[in-house]
Amino acid sequence: MVYSKKLNNFLYMIDVKPAGIENLISSYVLKADRVAIIESGPLASVENLLAGLEEIGIRNEQVNYLAVSHVHADHAGGAGALLRHLPNAKLLVHPRGAPHLVNPEKLWTQTKQALGKIAEMYGEVQSVLKERIITVTDKTIVNLGKNIELKVLETPGHASHALSFYENTARGIFTGDTAGIYLNKFDVVMPTTPSPFHLEKTLTSLSRLVEMAPKKLYYSHFGPAGDAVKKLKAYVVQLKLWGETVFDGMKDDEDFVTIHRRILEKDVSMRAVNDFIDSHVVFREIRKWDVQGFIEYFKKYSFENL
Ligand SMILES: [Zn+2]
Repeated sequence: MVYSKKLNNFLYMIDVKPAGIENLISSYVLKADRVAIIESGPLASVENLLAGLEEIGIRNEQVNYLAVSHVHADHAGGAGALLRHLPNAKLLVHPRGAPHLVNPEKLWTQTKQALGKIAEMYGEVQSVLKERIITVTDKTIVNLGKNIELKVLETPGHASHALSFYENTARGIFTGDTAGIYLNKFDVVMPTTPSPFHLEKTLTSLSRLVEMAPKKLYYSHFGPAGDAVKKLKAYVVQLKLWGETVFDGMKDDEDFVTIHRRILEKDVSMRAVNDFIDSHVVFREIRKWDVQGFIEYFKKYSFENL
């Protein structure tokens, strides 16, 4: 097994390895009477996802659903290309995300502006035919048979149209980017808060996820994790800490480097993975976007009022 890993008797994950980078983006496959894939990943890794499906023993025609947490390139950029290989699959996406996949030109332009070289590495966001899309909103239930269901949860914050998917049997949540990035080798969560990140909405979304009392989290970056409620609550504490730190830095007119140093002084877990992040081609960029996302948030919503 090069790409896929069995997580339980109906659930698999696929390390889609865009540009050969392991432990970065995980897609998930639920196999009951019907088959659902969660996250297409970017265009650059569609072939790897298909190879993973083959390893699991699922034929392309068997796939009924491709669900995406949000339409960022690393989660849904490859959806259009993947669907061309999956003749019977429908794309499940939030209604606000859907138009950006039908006509992805603007999304791709913004992606290139925001992500630079990383965007090129992920590959161009592919368009999806309108008739292949089913829009889903809060509490939509996707019944996969054999008592396995996915419940759609609207969890805005990282993106305004972000979804999470709650699975009722193993009580796991596919969190997209709502619960941060799980650095599985270190058992550490780092924020993912690029602009237009919304702190208040994210905190509300996280408390909704806590209310579901999940046993597992299935991160899109990267892999499954136990201690689900504990991790969600810790992420709330971490986001508040980052928020306070960035806010204080802004009041003191500090630059990015100084604000980031303040964060490392306070966030012990991030300090432990700092060298790893420094050396990682994607995560070191995400960290910059994270701090910038908080700065933009405070500028937009509250800075002048405080
Ligand atoms: Zn992401």
